[in-house]
Amino acid sequence: MLGDRYGTHRVIEPKGTLPQAALRLDNDFTKHFDNELVIDVERLNIDSASFVQMEGAGDVAAQILETVRTRGKQHNSVTGSGGMLLGRCARVGRALKMERPLAPGERVATLVSLTLTPLSLDRIVSVDAARHQVIVEGRAVLFESSAWARLPADLPETVALSAFDVAGAAPQVARMVRPGMKVLILGCGGKSGLLCSAAARRAGAARVIGIERSQEAAAGARRLGACHEIAIADAADAVAVSSAVLAAAGGEVDFAVSCVNVPDAEMGAILSTRDGGTIYFFSMSTQFTKAALGAEGISRDVTMVVGNGYAPGHAEATLALLRAEPVLRAIFVERFG
Ligand code: NAP
Repeated sequence: MLGDRYGTHRVIEPKGTLPQAALRLDNDFTKHFDNELVIDVERLNIDSASFVQMEGAGDVAAQILETVRTRGKQHNSVTGSGGMLLGRCARVGRALKMERPLAPGERVATLVSLTLTPLSLDRIVSVDAARHQVIVEGRAVLFESSAWARLPADLPETVALSAFDVAGAAPQVARMVRPGMKVLILGCGGKSGLLCSAAARRAGAARVIGIERSQEAAAGARRLGACHEIAIADAADAVAVSSAVLAAAGGEVDFAVSCVNVPDAEMGAILSTRDGGTIYFFSMSTQFTKAALGAEGISRDVTMVVGNGYAPGHAEATLALLRAEPVLRAIFVERFG
């Protein structure tokens, strides 16, 4: 039996939607489809915005169990975000075409969001709050259109998983930054912030300005050294952010990336970016209305790019960046290894 390439055969409600937009997915894996990949799940990497929201709301494990029980996927209804997972290949549908066929038992990480991945959980073993990861026993299914990656042999699995979670960020920055540009990275000390700072520097940015809310959070970025200057400011305080950026960059930047995991960072990025510049809103806490109306409200002619988590070859490119930057790799291994 063949399922739909994009997984609509697993949508329970509302009918007619794609799995990401669906309220509930069918996670009955006794149903076999020849173009699905079944994974024995060992670890969930929860999206940063989602983990922080759930931590604030109470028991993270209980919330995940309830979400997966009611929705058939880990789709946080408040933040709208998910994460990705790591596990072992359990079954490869015989109609799936692969360049290098995956064998049952091989270790894989998914490169598509948990918000569209049918998932069932037998239990949560423990919550690894430092890494925003959750050790579980469960199963998941990938569709024909879903990307995945083999785990690399030269990095701890938890490091690869953390890097894969934000794998779209650095390759997108690498293709948007031009030599000589002034670049702003909001949340430069976080996972995607560090990767984006390194990517901007390698792309030839003349000046990279980082913003963090505390000296502790900025420590990793200082150690990496990819930012020419790091200012301490609350990303939600647009005036403070733009004053810090204007002082550090000697004017507005050409390109800004939002890598924070909290809401209300849209205006700081917009105020700090010149007319004709570009902002890449990688953060899942970004709101379209705030960004669109905010830019209109100050008559700022900026191109605003939605943080598409996918770019061709993004997983390999992100691993290559970690391998090419020893300090970046060391920070990732210390934090997530
Ligand atoms: P992360 O490692 O938690 O980093 C976030 C950084 O932002 C931290 O250094 C944090 O500092 C800093 N920060 C938080 N609040 C701030 C504030 N008010 N002012 C300045 N800095 C602040 O997160 P991540 O994993 O890189 O993810 C970043 C964002 O990308 C999240 O919203 C995540 O959901 C999103 N994401 C997007 C995609 C996509 O496909 N577009 C994929 C994965 C993740 P503290 O350490 O002090 O909190």
